[in-house]
Parts: sequence; C-alpha cells; structure tokens
Amino acid sequence: MDVQKMGQIYEGKAKKVFQTNNPDLYWIEYKDDATAFDGKKKGTIMNKGILNNKISNHFFKMLEDRGIPTHLVNQINDRESVVKAVKIILVEVVVRNIAAGSLSKRIGLPEGTMLPKTVLEFYYKDDALGDPLINDYHIQVLDLATPEQMKVISEIALKTNDILREYLKDKKIDLIDFKLEFGTHKGQVILADEISPDTCRFWDLETREKLDKDRFRRDLGNVEEAYREVLKRLTGETI
Ligand code: UDP
Repeated sequence: MDVQKMGQIYEGKAKKVFQTNNPDLYWIEYKDDATAFDGKKKGTIMNKGILNNKISNHFFKMLEDRGIPTHLVNQINDRESVVKAVKIILVEVVVRNIAAGSLSKRIGLPEGTMLPKTVLEFYYKDDALGDPLINDYHIQVLDLATPEQMKVISEIALKTNDILREYLKDKKIDLIDFKLEFGTHKGQVILADEISPDTCRFWDLETREKLDKDRFRRDLGNVEEAYREVLKRLTGETI
C-alpha cells in the first residue's frame, strides 16, 4: 500500500513531521529555516531543506549498509522522506574528534586541537532549559533512558563516528564533531533526526575551510555554497 501523508504532528526548527496512513511510519519535510544559539539567531539558508534531506539520507543509507539501525525508509522527493515512527529519546549525543564550539569554551582547548581520544557528551533535549550538558546520573534521575539503552546509544554513536570519519576522509572532509538523536521503534533503539551540515562540523581536510552551519552561526558567508559542496563531495550531485 502506498504511504500517504496525513496530519502534521510536530514542527521543529528545521523539519515538519506528519503522520501517515501507516502508524509505523512518519513523513518528514525539511525546511530552509535556520536557527542558532537556542533560537536567538534566525534566518533562511536557500535550498537547505533539499540539501539536508539528500545529505542526511545519503549518510543514513551508508550507515544502514554497515549495520547501524536508522529511521530512514525512503526519500519521497527533494524535501521529503518517509521514516520509521519513533519516540524520541530526550538525550542529544555529541561525538567529538577535534575541539570546537562549546567544548573549546567549556574546557579551554583552542578550536582545532586534536583530542587524544574521542569525547562523548550528553545533553538534555529541553529548549526551555537551553539543552544543558548532563551525565549518566542525570539521565537516570530524569528517567530519560535506561542504562541498557544508554549502552546501545553509546556503542552506536562511537561506531557511527568511526564509519563517518573514515568515509568523509575519502571525500577530503575532516569530521570535527556531530550531534545524534535516537528514538525507539517497536522497542528498538535506532538513529533518528538527521546527519547534515546543520548537525555536524565538517572542515575541508586540506584548507580547513568550514563546510557547515558555523558559516551561518558566525556570519562567514557562502553558507548555501558550503552545504552544496558537501552534497557534491558525497554524491557528485549538484542542485
Ligand atoms: N549541535 C547540534 N544541535 C545542537 C547543538 C549542537 O546539531 O543543539 C551540533 C553542532 O553542529 C556541532 C556539535 O553538535 O557539530 C557540537 O556542538 P557544540 O556543543 O560545540 O555547540 P555549538 O558550538 O554548536 O553551540
């Protein structure tokens, strides 16, 4: 049976989520809206919805092929995809290979410092609180995920890092850090949300040019061009 788009159930900063005629599936629409600094900075990145839909689906497909469970079912058109219906776990997982952004501020390592080991961080997904940094104890106290789920989440996050780093190196991109979200679908923990220049820091391997949302956050210009460049390096596609 064909999947049909039905009523909207949620609108986030970058995507809208719709129900479908199948209770196990959601319909996602990617927007061009861009926000930063807890929504205090707002703007539009032309064609971002199209670029992130394609980039994220490319990553999810590649990860699935390598044994990582993700929510992706299939791409419908340039801006829309069908995914498995999940209940989002309210823990945002950040994986870091090189110091940047909030880590540089928090622990004083200059941006660009190679970390001697991969750093895993958890943030409480709560806009009103400004997504605070939390640890395993806070996760248990708030009952955000079980210890078993956190073990699976950490394993998937680290394996995803290994796969993405290696893959991107080939495309002459250095994976500095990224954020993952997880959800549960029929009791299984799977990767959800998106993997895109909105949620990752990508630096050109040689020039160290930023190819991600930092161009928007820091008013560096050529934001759309950077997202286009990422899609081109991943798939060869130009839009
Ligand atoms: N990130 C994200 N959403 C957030 C916060 C961070 O996708 O709400 C990503 C961000 O793009 C970067 C990584 O997670 O790739 C680490 O971000 P950081 O903690 O340095 O925060 P930022 O400097 O972006 O505020």
